[in-house]
Amino acid sequence: MEIKYCWRCKIDVPMLNKEEFEIASKLYSNGFKVAKANRQERFKELLDYYNGLTGFGETEPNAIMHHSLQQIGPDCENCGKPYRTPKAKLCPACGNKRDVNE
Ligand SMILES: [Zn+2]
Ligand SMILES: [Zn+2]
Repeated sequence: MEIKYCWRCKIDVPMLNKEEFEIASKLYSNGFKVAKANRQERFKELLDYYNGLTGFGETEPNAIMHHSLQQIGPDCENCGKPYRTPKAKLCPACGNKRDVNE
């Protein structure tokens, strides 16, 4: 887990590493299998896991599913905010350009 700026949420959030995100994905899909009244109960395991790990207090299961370090790029050399995707060539914060080897 690392704190990174999220371009969708527009705040710094705890992003999960590969192993943590795999567990979260599993708990997320489990949420669809249980017959529970509301989303909060349905995804309680996922929210508990994420919040236990991060101390963040997330309430939106869908937000967790894009808080993955693998889904974002490295930090911008210029401003320190992460690129939006691993292949993004342009930093949306400062306009810095980088070379991406594909
Ligand atoms: Zn986000
Ligand atoms: Zn930048």
